[in-house]
Amino acid sequence: MLLDTHCHLTYDIDKDGGVDAVIARAHAAGVDVIICPTADPGDIDAAIKLAEKYPNVFATIGIHPEHAGVRAADYITDEILNHPRVLGVGEIGLDYHEMDMDTRAAQIELFESQLEMARRNKLPVAIHTRDAEEDTAAILEKWADIGGVMHCFTSGWGLAKKMLDRGFFFSASGIITFKNAGDIRETFSKIPLERIVVETDAPYCAPVPYRGRVCEPAFVVETARVVAEIKNIPFDKFCDIVVENTKKLYPKIKI
Ligand SMILES: [Zn+2]
Repeated sequence: MLLDTHCHLTYDIDKDGGVDAVIARAHAAGVDVIICPTADPGDIDAAIKLAEKYPNVFATIGIHPEHAGVRAADYITDEILNHPRVLGVGEIGLDYHEMDMDTRAAQIELFESQLEMARRNKLPVAIHTRDAEEDTAAILEKWADIGGVMHCFTSGWGLAKKMLDRGFFFSASGIITFKNAGDIRETFSKIPLERIVVETDAPYCAPVPYRGRVCEPAFVVETARVVAEIKNIPFDKFCDIVVENTKKLYPKIKI
């Protein structure tokens, strides 16, 4: 059994027969559990509905930095976060790559307001960080009681080391299978096995050999295969470890 810890099931990945078919193909590939994060406030309702409908779909709820300027409290209530199918707060964080410099203060405000929600509800967080390593680490340093996962981790060993010390998990996405991703493979070779989980970030970042296609949770198998190779352990054993790690990361998950 394997799981996809970060898949945007609310996005347009359902061209071939809808979400039912996506989930069926995942099951056929041995991917039995899917965690669906939100990024856009408009996805929150849809993510919760999917988690209520499908027994092996769970949600994390958060607003992505690309929506800097919105007030998280207008969309995310403690009632939502206490929903039994909502495992954590995410994806949240900082993106200095896609977003203009003048949004930084608003990004930080949105990020910290959601860290406050995670703290209040005792939930882990799923962190998105791009070209914002220093600020991400400095902010999470201040919120030292909060744990979680660095989603689609592509940063270097510097941030990995800091977040390892903070007790965070690291999620490998399809990017780790790319030919030019030697640096990321190198970083994951140094991250202890008990801190690694896997994801697709579907519909983005389809792993080799599906690169360029619309990604879906079934493809997480290819990412897991590559990480198992990097860690030099059998694929099945790696999958068992990933399941255990995910349970530790998201204690509310019932699988
Ligand atoms: Zn994502």
